[in-house]
This record gives sequence, C-alpha cells and structure tokens, in this order.
Amino acid sequence: MICCASVFFYRISLMQNRKTSRIYDAIIVGSGAAGGIAAHVLVNKGLNVLLLEIGPKWDRGTIFHTEHSWPYEMPYHGLGRPGQYDGLWKVNAYTEHLYVHPRIDRYATAPGTDFHWTRIHAVGGRTNTWARVSLRMAEWDLKPKSMQDGAGEDWPISYSDLAPYYDKAEDMLGVFGTREGLAVLPDGNYHAPTPPARCGEVMLMKGGRKIGIPVIPVRKAILLKNRDNRSACHYCGNCDYGCATGSRFSSLDAIIPQLLGRKNFTLRTQAAVHRVLLDPKTGKARGVEFIDTRNKLTYEARARVVVLGAGAMESTRILLNSKSREWPTGLANSSGVLGHYVMDNFKSGFVSGWLPSLKATEIFNDDGAGGGHVYIPRHTNFKGGRKSSVLRGWQFQPGSGSGAFPGYSKRLEGFRHTSVAFSCSGGMTTKRRWLT
Ligand SMILES: Cc1cc2nc3c(=O)[nH]c(=O)nc-3n(C[C@H](O)[C@H](O)[C@H](O)COP(=O)(O)OP(=O)(O)OC[C@H]3O[C@@H](n4cnc5c(N)ncnc54)[C@H](O)[C@@H]3O)c2cc1C
Ligand code: SF4
Repeated sequence: MICCASVFFYRISLMQNRKTSRIYDAIIVGSGAAGGIAAHVLVNKGLNVLLLEIGPKWDRGTIFHTEHSWPYEMPYHGLGRPGQYDGLWKVNAYTEHLYVHPRIDRYATAPGTDFHWTRIHAVGGRTNTWARVSLRMAEWDLKPKSMQDGAGEDWPISYSDLAPYYDKAEDMLGVFGTREGLAVLPDGNYHAPTPPARCGEVMLMKGGRKIGIPVIPVRKAILLKNRDNRSACHYCGNCDYGCATGSRFSSLDAIIPQLLGRKNFTLRTQAAVHRVLLDPKTGKARGVEFIDTRNKLTYEARARVVVLGAGAMESTRILLNSKSREWPTGLANSSGVLGHYVMDNFKSGFVSGWLPSLKATEIFNDDGAGGGHVYIPRHTNFKGGRKSSVLRGWQFQPGSGSGAFPGYSKRLEGFRHTSVAFSCSGGMTTKRRWLT
C-alpha cells in the first residue's frame, strides 16, 4: 500500500513545485478529530494557521441525504446486492457516498490483501459519522506498568495533567452523561444527563446488577440543547449516516464554522499532503508538499510548525514518505519502528439477540439519540473487579430497540411489527504478547 502510493507521489513531485507565498505559523494536515481541535486551539491563540484537507468541505444539509431515508426508499432496502457490502465496516448503501470505498480506491489496500481501512476524506474526517462515545482515560490507563500489571510502559503524564483539557473539550463537544464516581472511568463535564435507557437496556442493567457488572448511562457528544449553529438532537437515531442538524459533534459543524472568516485561518481543501519538507540547515520541518487533487499540480506550503492530523495510518504514511539524507527511512524513524504497532479504529464484533420476555408486550416509543443509551465500562482485572485470563480488559457499547428492517420480526411468533434486539460491540483486549 505504502510503496504504490510512494511511487505515484514521487513521479508527481518530479514536476515543478508551486510555492505558496505566505509563511504560516503552523500548517495542520487533516481536519478530523485531531486536526480540527489543533486548528481550534492554535487559531484561538492567535497563530496564522493553514489547514490542509485532502477532501472537500461538505454542506451538511445536502451530503447527509440518506439520514432519514426508509429502507423501502433505498435500492435493495439499503442492504445492497447480495455480497455487495460483505466484510466492510460501516460502508453500505446509506453511507458509501461518505466513506473512501476500499474496493474502489486503488490506494486503500495492497494487492492480495483485504484489510479494510475505514476512512472519510472530507472536512471533519471521521467525526462526521463517529459513534460519539466520549470517555476519559483514568490514571491507571496512563500508568499501566506501575498501577496494573507491569506490562508496557507508563505515560510521562498523569490524569491530573489531562483533566482540565478534558473539561474544555467536553464543553466544546457538548457531551451528555451522568456522574457515576467510577475509578476506572472518570466523570466528565456534561451539558445534560443521558436520555433514559430503552426497554432492552433497562433489562440489561438489571441483569448486570445481578452478576456484578456495571451498566451505566452512556456518555456521548450529542447536543440535547440548541447551541451556535447546531440544533438539539431530534432523536432520529440515524447518526451512522451523518447528521443534517449538526447535533452530534463534528469538526465540520462545531469547529470550522467558528474559524472561517478569521484573518489568521486558511482552509485549503482537496490538498493531498504527500510529505513534510525539512530545512537542510536546521533539520527542522519547514513545510509540506501537497497535490491539489483537482488540477493534480504539486504545491509547497511553508510554516514554522507542521502538525500531522491525517489519521493514524495516513500520518504514518506521510512520515514514511518524508525521506531525506538525515532520515533515510522516513522522518522520525531512527528506531525503524515507524509503521509498526499502529493503532486505529477498526471493525469489532457484533452480537445481537432477542429478548423473549418482551414477546407480545405493548409497543411504545423508545426513540432517542443514535446508538445505545447505556455503556458497560471495563470490569475485569482491577482491585475489586472480576478476574480474567486475558491481560487488562474491554468495554461494551450495548444498545436495544426496534430495527428499521421488519423482516425478522414477521417470522417470530408473538412479535408484531417490530423486532427487539440488543447488541454489544467489544473494545480492545490487550494481550501480553501484543505489548511485548
Ligand atoms: C464509524 C466510526 C465510529 C466511531 N466511534 C467512535 C466513538 O464512539 N468514540 C470515539 O472516541 N471514537 C470513535 N471512532 C474513532 C474516531 O472517529 C477516530 O479515532 C478519530 O476520528 C481519529 O481522529 P483523526 O484526526 O486521527 O482522524 P480523522 O478523524 O479520520 O481525520 C483525518 C483527516 O485527515 C484527512 N487526511 C487524510 N489524509 C490526508 C492527506 N494526505 N492530506 C491532507 N489531509 C488528509 C482526512 O480527510 C480527514 O479529514 C469511530 C470511528 C468510526 C469510523
Ligand atoms: S439521532 Fe440526533 S445526533 Fe443522531 S443523526 Fe439524529 S439528530 Fe443527529
């Protein structure tokens, strides 16, 4: 994957570079979760910032046009031709206009591999469709070696260093949640309590209590009150397909509109950054080289500081592309570790089931914010917690409700127009061999 892209970009860079005239204080690459927040902070500190984004800037009123589409309005009820979306994560008939399609994009996977890399190339990146679960790391997450099991390394920072920034970020994102006082999951700064748990989630909470597993209200970056140019959530439940009212946090809706029009902020879209350029005298970054994806010309932009926020994979690729005499295998790769041990968001397991006790019960309105309203924090391998044979633990994001696809329920005796299910997605389980 990386080799193909390098060759392609190298050919282009043989052409003459066009230099942008201005020298910025900072260039930020990518406008998603990381790049968007970096832009917000640096522009508000008064720095002259150039934000380079590979994709276009969407209009949320038109791009999220499937948000309220019913299955019967979509070809194949939105499920695609048999096999069309098999193995893909989040890419389906409702969303394929939002994601980089791994079976169409020729730089997504190396020949012979089927690794699915879920990307959005647009202003806001993956914050356009993220699940909005907004959690804090606890002190023991930052000190796993000394506080947990001796594996891995402790971070050089503590929770108390991060806490004031979590406060600010949650305020800007607009996170709802409840204060639970759990040591494993610090409480945050919430603008409203979580909407009530749905029917199946209440049952899950009761079941959790019986076996000593906490099931708490989830914490999500969704506005329940109007703010700025974002409206309170109208409980359509379709956050996977975007959000035309900007109710969930995204850089596109919550950050970029505040920065556009500022004299010290420039957004350049459809700018594919290829590599970081170094000043041969100082060895420090002096800018980046990028390709305008509309005219295919190569440009050079200059700044005192370069911030890479193009996602775990793409930022790594840019560093690997940034070869020089000092850094023959890529910038910041003296250890040779660059490109290894990369962690990103990936497809997780999904388990669903029917709750027979709800058979033949009254139908009532269980609407709410997209996804579940409850959350199962880590509950293994800590003092007072359950013991598990794997190192550390995992979290679950359960949910319950009636699906928009009525097919299954018709086959279940006693269920009427809708089906009832709850689902859980697992978080990361860290095994010792992965750490060493
Ligand atoms: C469906 C889904 C659900 C998720 N749910 C949650 C959740 O509930 N809670 C949670 O905490 N996390 C969640 N995540 C993960 C979260 O969205 C990501 O961890 C986060 O967005 C990563 O931020 P980032 O800035 O590194 O990358 P991104 O948000 O992907 O932003 C990268 C940006 O860089 C741009 N870019 C890429 N390459 C270049 C280039 N060469 N030149 C210029 N620009 C470039 C992209 O277009 C994009 O705008 C979810 C992710 C997905 C896909
Ligand atoms: S449920 Fe709320 S946040 Fe999600 S898409 Fe609908 S309005 Fe937006």
